[in-house]
Amino acid sequence: MRRPETDAIRIQAERSANNEHSVPLYLTSSYVFEDAEDMRSQFAEEKTGHIYSRYANPNVEEFNRKMAALEGAECGWATATGMAAVFTFFGALLSSGDHIVSCRSVFGSTHKLLTEVLPKWQIDHTYVDFDDYEGFENAITASTKLVYIETPSNPALDIIDIERLSEVCKRNKVLLVVDNCFATPLLQQPIKLGADVTIHSATKYIDGQGRTLGGVILSSLVIIEKVKNFARHSGPAMSPFNAWILSKSLETLDVRLERHCNNALEIAKRLEGHPAVAFVKYPFLESHPHYAIAKKQMRQGGGIVTFELKSGLEGGKKFLNSLELFSLTANLGDVRSIATHPASTTHSKLSAEQRIEVGITDGMVRLSIGLEHVEDIWKDLNGAL
Ligand SMILES: *Cc1c(COP(=O)(O)O)cnc(C)c1O
Repeated sequence: MRRPETDAIRIQAERSANNEHSVPLYLTSSYVFEDAEDMRSQFAEEKTGHIYSRYANPNVEEFNRKMAALEGAECGWATATGMAAVFTFFGALLSSGDHIVSCRSVFGSTHKLLTEVLPKWQIDHTYVDFDDYEGFENAITASTKLVYIETPSNPALDIIDIERLSEVCKRNKVLLVVDNCFATPLLQQPIKLGADVTIHSATKYIDGQGRTLGGVILSSLVIIEKVKNFARHSGPAMSPFNAWILSKSLETLDVRLERHCNNALEIAKRLEGHPAVAFVKYPFLESHPHYAIAKKQMRQGGGIVTFELKSGLEGGKKFLNSLELFSLTANLGDVRSIATHPASTTHSKLSAEQRIEVGITDGMVRLSIGLEHVEDIWKDLNGAL
């Protein structure tokens, strides 16, 4: 069996008549048929081929195949954005009256889908505490179709034991769906740990250079067939151009991640010893409340570090203004280091109480550690602190 690091490089679309070494970009909205019979048989799905790029394109297929190989999934379906992947999955699998069990430590837009969009179709949810495994089990009802989690979560870096929760899900015959965006399949493979589905925002580490948006759903043939039928007609397709970029980005994901993770661990350790810092959260720091679970299910701790400034809300703003190297931007997983202050930006519409509920404190800073030299990253942080 080839290792995922090799598959990320060597899985490629079939060579064209030009014998190119690097896969070309297939910017075409449709494909021609040999004759009327070829056309009839492809539309009848008796023969496989390419008809229309809303659901079939060589660049997108290459990206799907690579991602499925990396996750150890049977197959995958790419979408225009990470949120399109989440919504497409819900749309494909759920019907009116169905129920989801989740926890509040999910991405902000996923929370909006669960609380504001899905209820329009009488699809309900129950939130439990992310580390309450009995709570997950107790929240499952006869209408529950799936348990939806994110680990490590954005931005709180909460860690959920995938194997343990998958046992709960199997016992109750519901699907376990994991948003694996922060870890990528090279640091954590939820399907191998018992999950049924993983979802990614490819916008983050998979692109890795802040250029494109993308998403992907990875699962069994049976589930991806449902996703495919929904997506084919509702149209959340990944563009061939973005698939071409993302597929090439996967070739360097392994080496990029190693640097992201090594830099992040070093920065987390140094922050932990700084007098202006109340506490640091990083999955591979022994002080993380779920360090043992992170160690068990992740290869390295990832590139995101969060920490709490002793100086609170005002201190957080001042800290951001003092940074010179770090970018102040909404993305993460980029080669360039990024800092955000959730309390004054992404979560500023919440009351202080609501923020505490979702694990966001006034002095919390989220760092996406990039690939710059670790000493330059530290110099910037230390200066701002
Ligand atoms: C960014 C993100 C998403 C959404 O992805 P987009 O590509 O921005 O639509 C979903 N989940 C997590 C954990 C994310 O960080």
